[in-house]
Amino acid sequence: MLSKTGCSSHQPAMESTDSRVQVFVSLLPQAYFAEKVGGEHVQVSVLIPPGADPHTYEPTPQQMKDLAKADLYLKVGTIEFEEMWMDRIVDVNPGMLVVDTSQSIDLIDQDPHIWLSPNLARQQAQSIYQALITIDAAHQPDYQRNLQAFQGEMDQLDQYIKEQLKNIKHRELLVFHPAWRYFCADYGLEEIAIEQEGKEPTVQEMVRIINDAREKGIRAVIVSPQHSTHQAEAIAGDIGAEIITLDPLARDYTANLRQAADELARALSRD
Ligand SMILES: [Zn+2]
Repeated sequence: MLSKTGCSSHQPAMESTDSRVQVFVSLLPQAYFAEKVGGEHVQVSVLIPPGADPHTYEPTPQQMKDLAKADLYLKVGTIEFEEMWMDRIVDVNPGMLVVDTSQSIDLIDQDPHIWLSPNLARQQAQSIYQALITIDAAHQPDYQRNLQAFQGEMDQLDQYIKEQLKNIKHRELLVFHPAWRYFCADYGLEEIAIEQEGKEPTVQEMVRIINDAREKGIRAVIVSPQHSTHQAEAIAGDIGAEIITLDPLARDYTANLRQAADELARALSRD
């Protein structure tokens, strides 16, 4: 889109030549979904960069400028960042289509981490497909073919995770930042949060968590690269559990979840 007042020589060449659908997502794994479904017809930008915390992130002025030129925003659904910023994002670009990719999903207690379930990723991809054919009906057959391929990839991933976790001995795990609830729900695991309401636990809460974990024979404590590991390490040391680093926000979605399944299977198979 050309600015009404700007001198044309100031416009980057890409803006006028790029006919692809300009898509914005909040999180890196959503970029994976959108690129798989959109293929060559989309240009996907991610608002929350690697290493940043999606619960507290604030967009940069440059990102707000780029958002003003976008065609489509794909929301995770209930993540704090979107609740804080969506009104302002829509203000800079009232014509942009905004789609909530959690629209067909039954949320558990408004937990936003729906992308970590391959089954729910399939539903998010369906919403992405609907949005893309609304904006770019001419390429509907391509989007449909891409969607089918993606659904197949998710089916295989789901099978792989089930296979890996088939013979584990322990089903409960401690998680510092509780991002894995939908994943756990799909694969018969139970996530116990160390963080309390998004905050580090108090000393009393730590004692309760450690006693609870010892009683349950917890073998694995999950930490993520976006959060401090100090308290999780203290708890793991106390109860003789293994620290496992799993990234809930890796861009290479399928490879990341395969690796997560491998690591969990190993730790949860210990006596
Ligand atoms: Zn989170």
